[in-house]
Amino acid sequence: MAKRIVKEIDCPHCKEKVELQMWDSINVSLNPALKDKIKNGTIFDWTCPQCGKTTRIMYPFLYIDMIHTFMIWFGAPGQCNPELYQNMTLDGYQFRQARNFNELVEKAAIFENQLDDHVIELMKLSIVQALYKQTEGGTKAPLPAILVFRSKQEDGTMIFSALYQNAPGRLIRASETTYNTIRRDLENNPSVLKGLADGEGKFQQVNFDWAKKAMTLLAAQRQGH
Ligand SMILES: [Zn+2]
Repeated sequence: MAKRIVKEIDCPHCKEKVELQMWDSINVSLNPALKDKIKNGTIFDWTCPQCGKTTRIMYPFLYIDMIHTFMIWFGAPGQCNPELYQNMTLDGYQFRQARNFNELVEKAAIFENQLDDHVIELMKLSIVQALYKQTEGGTKAPLPAILVFRSKQEDGTMIFSALYQNAPGRLIRASETTYNTIRRDLENNPSVLKGLADGEGKFQQVNFDWAKKAMTLLAAQRQGH
């Protein structure tokens, strides 16, 4: 199911033509060791046999988790080869598109914690809005450039990491109550999810842009429009 692909590349250090091994798909349920290497990024580290230097080279692949039933396409939208999943039973699977490494790791963490990424994206948006108010639009303190879901603790607390352009990152905590409130809000307004379903591709993009649209729709419905 996971196929190795060998590609010839020029080493960025010594410029020698050398072979690079990649995967077209990785089933982390069958290869738990590869899952750790994806999460810490080392799966993309490649050491040149000629000069011995290590380079991080990202490439597209399909991330498959059979235990939590989701797939993430880590590559250009619409470019996932259906042959990678056509022999699988796809009942109950969620399909997502990751635009970058942070999104890939984040989506995996959300689904492994059996959470709904729509709710998480709306939580992230409300955290950013609260920070915007607190910092008066970023004038009193910097605003995070990226906010990423990391984990859910045993007491239900959700941990997010805020990454800044020119400041050290920090952890932000949010309660399970907030999560449940947003989830109920979405459940009570099913047309929001339907209205924003991406009909174009199999792999949906549920991200900050999605959350902004959803928040607008939810606000309109609350006002009875
Ligand atoms: Zn080299």
